[in-house]
Amino acid sequence: MSEARAYASASPTTPLAPRRISRREPGPLDVAIDIAYCGICHSDIHTVRGEWGPGAYPIVPGHEIVGRVSRVGKRVKKFKIGDLAGVGCMVDSCRKCANCRRGMEQHCLGRLSFTYNAVEQDGVTRTQGGYSSHIVVDEAFTLKVKSGQPLERVAPLLCAGITTYSPLKRHGVKKGTRVGVLGLGGLGHMAVKLAAAMGATVTALSGSESKRPDAKKLGASSFALTKDPAVMAALAGTLDLIIDTVSGDHDVNSMVGLLTTGGTLVMVGASPRPHAVGSFPLIFGRRAIEGSLIGGIKETQEMLDFCAKKKVFADVEVIAAKDINAAYERVLKSDVRYRFSIDCSTL
Ligand code: NAP
Ligand code: ZN
Ligand code: ZN
Repeated sequence: MSEARAYASASPTTPLAPRRISRREPGPLDVAIDIAYCGICHSDIHTVRGEWGPGAYPIVPGHEIVGRVSRVGKRVKKFKIGDLAGVGCMVDSCRKCANCRRGMEQHCLGRLSFTYNAVEQDGVTRTQGGYSSHIVVDEAFTLKVKSGQPLERVAPLLCAGITTYSPLKRHGVKKGTRVGVLGLGGLGHMAVKLAAAMGATVTALSGSESKRPDAKKLGASSFALTKDPAVMAALAGTLDLIIDTVSGDHDVNSMVGLLTTGGTLVMVGASPRPHAVGSFPLIFGRRAIEGSLIGGIKETQEMLDFCAKKKVFADVEVIAAKDINAAYERVLKSDVRYRFSIDCSTL
């Protein structure tokens, strides 16, 4: 066992605070990673505040992890000491079920070990995430990160990147596809960048007028203020695909109305409360609403390689660990441009 410095939540209502946690000794197939940066995902906030259901405290959040390999188990093949490595939302899965065998570990039908607030495959050990100095993960769930990239901007790809890349790929987004991205936060700004890198014509749909000047810089061809009824009316029936990244209550029906006939709205934002959805805009436009959960390990590697090649990185504000609680408040106010990345050397 080794001791890691971490930031943990002790209850849904208390601020995160420094805490020591233990990590296992690397087994034959494990790599130990000294964490350089960890992104702050809105899911971290939903989880520690108990918005999706009760958590098992203490919880060390963080699933956008990048760092350097410090130790490797005897049988590790993919990594050597000193390599860069990434860890996303999962640290293990059953590896036997039909979904795991198809590279869809995120939909494991057995036990899925999320990176935090979950249990390892032993069914006992609680997983603890990336707001920490180091982590030990099986090499099968550890991603290769190319050198020469800004690591603080690579970290958010491990969740925000793959969560938006996966549905864009699945829907065959290419030159000429008209993609709408609802919510310009951590996921949304990555969706804009990735869809643009795939050649799509992107409309940024946002409730924040202050983000208008950024839309073009991110790669969108236009910005639409969702609060403006005239703007929404002009967009009706024009989008092939919408990636909805909103974290809370919002009017999904007005977004469905923006889709073309046969268009799809992909729900990645995980609002704790259910949405009211009208049947008519779906039926008459043969439109669909579907969900999407991160992506599998192979696809996550593909996304990291795509981003390295296209030089697509998150826009980040690097913070020290002591500023995590203040950063949470700013995320809740949609006041982040566009992801906080924790410098884990400050833990
Ligand atoms: P975020 O940085 O807070 O971004 C969410 C954005 O949505 C905000 O910046 C804001 O954009 C808009 N927004 C927030 N509240 C709103 C409201 N009530 N009505 C309308 N717009 C609102 O969050 P994130 O880290 O990108 O995560 C977004 C959601 O995706 C969270 O629920 C998170 O848990 C979920 N998530 C899901 C997956 C998955 O696998 N499906 C993976 C990661 C995260 P504007 O200012 O532009 O309006
Ligand atoms: Zn996340
Ligand atoms: Zn499985």
